[in-house]
Amino acid sequence: MKFSNLLIPTLKEAPNDATLPSHIYLIRGGFIQGVGSGLYNFLPLGKMVLDRVKNVVKEELDNAGAQEVSLGFVTPASLWVESGRFEKYGKELLRFKDRKENDFVLGPTHEEMMVNLVKQTVKSYKQLPLNLYQINLKFRDEIRPRFGLMRGREFLMKDGYSFHANEEDMKREFALMEETYKRIFTRLGLDFRVVEADSGAIGGTGSKEFMVLADSGEDTIVVCKNCKYGANIEAAKSMPYVCKDEPPVAAFAKFSTPNIKTIDELSSFFKVNPYYIIKTVAKKALYDEGKEEIVLFFLRGSDELQETKALNSLNANDLIDINSDELEQIGLEAGFLGPLNLPNNIKTVFDNSLNSATNMICGANEKDYHYVGVDLKLDKDTIIDDIISVKEGDKCIHCGGSLYYTKGIEVGHIFQLGTRYSEPLRAEFLDENGKSKPFVMGTYGIGVSRLLAAIIEQHHDEKGCIWTKESSPFDICVIVSNIKDEKQSEIAFKIYNGLKEKNINALIDDRNERFGFKMKDYELIGIPYAVIIGKKVEEGIVELISRDGQVAREVNISNIIEMVADIV
Ligand code: ATP
Ligand code: MG
Repeated sequence: MKFSNLLIPTLKEAPNDATLPSHIYLIRGGFIQGVGSGLYNFLPLGKMVLDRVKNVVKEELDNAGAQEVSLGFVTPASLWVESGRFEKYGKELLRFKDRKENDFVLGPTHEEMMVNLVKQTVKSYKQLPLNLYQINLKFRDEIRPRFGLMRGREFLMKDGYSFHANEEDMKREFALMEETYKRIFTRLGLDFRVVEADSGAIGGTGSKEFMVLADSGEDTIVVCKNCKYGANIEAAKSMPYVCKDEPPVAAFAKFSTPNIKTIDELSSFFKVNPYYIIKTVAKKALYDEGKEEIVLFFLRGSDELQETKALNSLNANDLIDINSDELEQIGLEAGFLGPLNLPNNIKTVFDNSLNSATNMICGANEKDYHYVGVDLKLDKDTIIDDIISVKEGDKCIHCGGSLYYTKGIEVGHIFQLGTRYSEPLRAEFLDENGKSKPFVMGTYGIGVSRLLAAIIEQHHDEKGCIWTKESSPFDICVIVSNIKDEKQSEIAFKIYNGLKEKNINALIDDRNERFGFKMKDYELIGIPYAVIIGKKVEEGIVELISRDGQVAREVNISNIIEMVADIV
């Protein structure tokens, strides 16, 4: 294609809200255009990249036996009510009514819709297994849309759903999808890691995320230095920590602690390791139908509350902070909270590490007092769960190796769903014995538009994008130094046509602009290779360069097409 014919509105400056390289370069390079918070148009170059990425995803999924479909973006709310997610999904779910007052949602994910499709068409175990996917728009009214395509409100997702007669077959497909996803991200030239994950609003049990390693990633992942273990911090586990410092052995007693509130203050006042102090975190939990309650989470002073784990321990929709006034209203004293002597009916959750803990110090639920010598005996009805964050330096549960943090961009997420949706939506098939059973399901997502941002986060320099081989809008750019020079122009088009004949996807920068200006655009747009046609055409020589700086050599015109064909 000719640059002069294409709409590539490159910009010198990025908008103020663009802070990440991917956001800056995708806008400056004329790939996308912002239309509102978390909403983007794809311009010709952006659409080309999107199509290439989509194509890699499609090829690999089709190879793995999945079938592409396309479901409605607008979905009836009744399906969401049936699955129990209409309320649970919270404000990210955009709900609206049509002119007849019927309720609808814009699909943020399509479990309900796909189950409904299969329920009406698959009746027998003979039609199983089945893996259906689509590459379509999703809408999530994200609280903080940002970083361009990374966290949009409208975005392109590949979402796939598999249906099986039993758990075992679903696990086989889950493993196949993991391998397929690895192939997709490898082909796209990404450095990624597969990690254990929390299952979030989608539900289900086993789930894995595909994280592109990048400092700008919004997810913290915990990785073992020694073995392959990796997990999102929301799901990470480590070996229980045993404190080597002496415990503060004491008979149970109430102790005056005037104005001593924080774990640090208590730790120096009593001269004990925070491990022996009970930390209390108060939150308000929000549930369906507007229900809410105050919850006290108890953990060791040396640990931090992990909010996603805390949320899961309650099966709530959201956890929000509360202030000391709200605590006072129900007779609680901030800074002196603890598990003993609580007013009636206060919901409590204890971290696993406090089960049967002895010689602890905790707040007395009375201003300026703490208890010492506390031995916790938690009864059966108490919620005891893993609610703490793994820390750097903790030991790996698999090999004892040291764990550390790194940052990742979530580009894919696969779930073992089981019957989480097929049961409430009564999607059943007849098994070999003619017995009705709910489908056992898996679900598999890829953030297709987010991938464009992830690729650039990993592949850019101070001049702009550096697309990977299978994501670039063009294989090569032919740059004519001076388009008015007849000889240069003639050779450039000869090379360009020769490349096209070889099925090489070439762009020719035929604009009547200064060479420096065209080079700047080339570097910003980031096509992996360029052939530069300059003054040396007179001697039969052109220059071949690569955007990453690895290649820069003079080539005889008669060899250039063969050489490019070899490289790309
Ligand atoms: P996140 O934790 O980043 O909000 P999620 O876990 O809610 O994502 P999933 O429900 O697992 O997302 O959706 C599947 C994939 O869709 C994600 O792995 C991600 O790549 C992509 N995705 C999710 N939300 C967005 C968004 N707001 N913008 C772009 N891509 C997104
Ligand atoms: Mg996810």
